This record gives sequence, C-alpha cells and structure tokens, in this order.
Amino acid sequence: MIERLCVIGVGLIGGSLARALRAAGVVREIVGCTRHAEHLQRAVDLGVIDRFDTDPATAVEGADLVFVSVPLGAMGAIFAAIGDALADNAVVTDAGSAKAAVVADVRSALGSVPDRFVPGHPIAGTEQSGVEASFAELYQDRRVILTPLPDTDRDAVARVRALWEAAGARVNEMGVEHHDEVLAATSHLPHILAFALVESLARMSEQREIFEYAAGGFRDFTRIASSDPVMWRDICLANGEAILTMIERFDQDIASLADAIRRHDGDRLLAIFQGAKAARDAFLG
Ligand code: NAP
Repeated sequence: MIERLCVIGVGLIGGSLARALRAAGVVREIVGCTRHAEHLQRAVDLGVIDRFDTDPATAVEGADLVFVSVPLGAMGAIFAAIGDALADNAVVTDAGSAKAAVVADVRSALGSVPDRFVPGHPIAGTEQSGVEASFAELYQDRRVILTPLPDTDRDAVARVRALWEAAGARVNEMGVEHHDEVLAATSHLPHILAFALVESLARMSEQREIFEYAAGGFRDFTRIASSDPVMWRDICLANGEAILTMIERFDQDIASLADAIRRHDGDRLLAIFQGAKAARDAFLG
C-alpha cells in the first residue's frame, strides 16, 4: 500500500499510472505537481489526483513514493528542487525515455545518486499527451524496464516493481547503457524516421496533393509523428550517441536498398522485403 504518492508531471504517463494505481486500490492519497495550476485542477476534476501543489518541494512532503514523469529536459531541475524535501523513507522513480541522461541529471542536481532512486521506463504510450489522454489500462501487459545502479537499495527496487505490477505491467531490469541502446533501436529510430518522412513530404511543393492521396500505409507508418515534439527533442538530446549509431546503421541499409533499386536487382529487393516481413510476422506472432 502506498500511503501518499506524489506524481510530478501529471500528463499521459503520470496520469495513467495514478489512474491505474487508484483502480488497483493500492494508493491512499495522490498529490500532483506540474507547472500549471489549471492542468492540475483538470487532473483533480478527472479524479486522477486528490490534490496538488505547483511547487515540487512542497508537493513531495510526506510522500512515501514519488514518480517523476516530466519531459527529459525538465528532470534535472525537478530533482534539484525536491532533493532536500523528500521524506526519509521516500522511494523515487521516474519514467524518462533515456536512462543515462536522467541518472547524470540526478547526480549533478544532488551531488550523488540516492540509493532510494530507481530509474525506470514504461514501454507504453500513445501519440497523445496531457492528463486528458491518460487512462488506467495503459500499462496492462506492457513492459516496464528498471535500470537500478549497483548501489540502488534492493527494497526500493522491489517497491517500484510492485507499483508497476499493481498497474498491470511486466517488469524487467537491465543496465542503463543497455537500455539506451535497445530503446534507440526499437523506439527512438522509428520515431525519428516517422518525423523525418512527414517533414520531408510536407516540404515538397506538391504537399496538398501528396497528403490528399495518402492512404492507410502512410497513416500507419506516420502515426507516431503526431507525438509531442518537446518530448522527442529531449529524447534526441538525451540519447544522441546511441541514436546516431542507429541512424548510421540505417543509412547504410537504406543506401543498400536504393542501390538494389538502381540496379534493378529484383532478387536483392525480394530478399530484403522477405527478411523484413518474416521478422515482423515473427515479432507479432
Ligand atoms: P505529457 O503528457 O506531455 O506530460 C508531461 C507533464 O509534465 C505535464 O503534466 C506537464 O504539465 C508537466 N511538465 C512539463 N514540464 C514540466 C516542468 N518543467 N516542471 C513540472 N512539470 C512539468 O508527457 P508524457 O508523455 O506523460 O511523458 C512524460 C515522461 O515520460 C517523459 O520523460 C517521457 O520521456 C516519458 N515517457 C513517455 C512515453 C510516451 O509514449 N508518451 C512513454 C514512456 C516514457 P505542465 O505543462 O502543467 O507543466
């Protein structure tokens, strides 16, 4: 049972966790914190949080669990603000999509990484943002990756694991760097490709006509280009090295595909598409 949960950043991710834990009946009180009181009042009206404070230090007072789900670029300032205000027994976790950057921000904000801070990342989301987009089932059967450090308190890890399991998620642990490499490949690169494709088409002079004839394939491939630009700017800045490695690999693969088209190499094209189809079918199956 969580006596008092403080959610800093009550948007899609924070709001959905608050809703899920309330639905599971494992939290007595939920305090929200963001920059804008009107967003927090909306969260109260929707029943997502019980009360709020726009000052992070006041919001975390007396909380036994603190969940930080603000954009990556805001993490450092939040940790600097709450460091001295946390209760002795407080366990703190976050939702940031890149883990090395969050750990570095916590270290530079507090001088060291507290042993009761458990870095985390739910592999769940939609292209929507804000508390209105949040829903209790978001984490049902979805994975959450925790990236504890060697010094992280194992009881704190167990608490955070239990919190996510109560929200319906399946929890895995991995190292910070490994997480960032895996996510650069499976999430960050696909989002960048979707943004780049839509931006490239939007700049073409025949723009209107192109979008008029865009069909299901375009819609499927580009759905995630409707994701929050601030969040994706922050992810690219926070996980740049791993993302650049993936872009370079992808560059080589797309160049090889272009070469096959140029050479009219049907066998090569078929092999690429068959390989991709088999991999995707196996993944979905
Ligand atoms: P979101 O819906 O835009 O919510 C962000 C929340 O943070 C809002 O409540 C916003 O409210 C608040 N906020 C923004 N800047 C702040 C600041 N400087 N201080 C305090 N509060 C601030 O974003 P989200 O999708 O929930 O993402 C939150 C975090 O989860 C990000 O770190 C992201 O990388 C991670 N994540 C996202 C997804 C996804 O698919 N969306 C998946 C996994 C992890 P105000 O505007 O009122 O401040």
